Amino acid sequence: MIRCRHPLGDTGDDAYRHEECGVFGVYGHDDAAAHTALGLHGLQHRGQEACGIVTYDGDHFHSHRALGTVGDNFGSQEVIARLPGAMSIGHVRYSTSGETVLRNVQPLFADFKFGGLAIAHNGNLTNAYAVRKSLVDKGCIFQSTSDTETIIHLIAKSEYSPVVDRMIDALRQVEGAYSLVALTREKLIGVRDPYGIRPLILGRMGDTYILSSESCTLNILGAEFVRDVDPGEIIVIDKKGLRSIKPFQKAPSRFCIFEYIYFARPDSLMEGKNVYEVRKQIGAELARECPVEADMVIPVPDSGVPAALGYANQSGIPFEIGIIRSHYMGRTFIEPSDQIRHLGVRLKHNANSGLIKGKRLILVDDSIVRGTTSTKIVEMMRNAGAREVHMRISSPPTDHSCFYGIDTPSQQELLAAQNNIEEMAKLIGVDSLAYISFDGLYRAVAGEDRNSEAPQFCDACFTGEYPVRLTDQEDSPGPQQLSLLAEQE
Ligand code: AMP
Repeated sequence: MIRCRHPLGDTGDDAYRHEECGVFGVYGHDDAAAHTALGLHGLQHRGQEACGIVTYDGDHFHSHRALGTVGDNFGSQEVIARLPGAMSIGHVRYSTSGETVLRNVQPLFADFKFGGLAIAHNGNLTNAYAVRKSLVDKGCIFQSTSDTETIIHLIAKSEYSPVVDRMIDALRQVEGAYSLVALTREKLIGVRDPYGIRPLILGRMGDTYILSSESCTLNILGAEFVRDVDPGEIIVIDKKGLRSIKPFQKAPSRFCIFEYIYFARPDSLMEGKNVYEVRKQIGAELARECPVEADMVIPVPDSGVPAALGYANQSGIPFEIGIIRSHYMGRTFIEPSDQIRHLGVRLKHNANSGLIKGKRLILVDDSIVRGTTSTKIVEMMRNAGAREVHMRISSPPTDHSCFYGIDTPSQQELLAAQNNIEEMAKLIGVDSLAYISFDGLYRAVAGEDRNSEAPQFCDACFTGEYPVRLTDQEDSPGPQQLSLLAEQE
């Protein structure tokens, strides 16, 4: 969770929730809800904390939203049967600490004078507090602490008439990162913010259209990949077919480079590139830039696997599975307190001791955030008898928080923001630590060096260069409080 700031004072964890998410939409299939549930399964890595589906059956909207995973909540035929209709949208949500409450779980739904509208959002708005404050001053009553609700109120207040025009009017007033899917009585709508920070793709299965955060969901459904939704594009699907609108002022495309490094599923295609291949190329570049003599290359599972393969192929050092991961445990970040997070790393990973004893290891991971995972894993390798432990990271040091939808702690908690590489190596307990360079990363992902005048991606978590203004941060230093209601339900 990213804590935005607000002058009303510190209210603790739940002042304002920001989270990583996945969105999915189906138009024109009798089993829209079942297909959406399958799609959300494929996006589960983007959010495991809560999920929801809203359908429209020609007469009524139907909604089921709950805390927990897609399997927990949409695994039974009985639940799916309560979501009839040929149009549907869904959402998975992931935040890190504090309690999660149902009123923040998406898709959000509202009755407008033009009818109902459901909306699901991946990304973070960076002026949500400022907009919300002015709406509250004008008498708007907010139900949740989600930034997405700001869009709902802006749509309600718009003086335009067709729903798409109202959405355009609303979105022109917000800043930040958003990939949205929305459902009205007639339309499935998909939107990507002008910088295209978060992903959104279009798929097709006969006459059925699909919108999804990632393309891996299409394979699950047997659907075909059509294309990425363009930055700043609105896709409107209704009985007349598919329409594309580009109503926003053109902005330079700044897709999130961290989707390639860590967040997306490796079997997804993003902006024309297979994520797995990109990660392998990053690993190969890392091996060229940061070689070290060793007996084996070991990935920190699962996110470090493709980069470690690339490193091993390039260096000629054997790739080995030296850490076994329990698949029955969620991501480490999901645990709210530090103490549990520390324990969690041990539950999640175990050393393959027979392999490691007496060996010189290269551990490859995608990133170091707080340093919890690496510290524990290195300790585990030493306890298992490793002779040398070298760590190689397939991204530059993460020394800035993300405000666009990737969950990162505050800068104070980021190991790389507080220490240089030598200090980090000491803290983590490795014999050597090295990160891929910016240019190396860009060469691997984009085939060319980073263009410092106009970077090809959003890389703010590594550079502090934020492509979209952080209005709430600039205007309101201090933690935010958006509701007096305790975050419990
Ligand atoms: P830490 O233990 O805090 O250093 O976190 C680093 C580990 O968390 C790495 O193994 C990453 O694969 C993973 N990671 C990196 N960024 C995130 C994120 N935004 N959410 C969840 N896990 C992450």
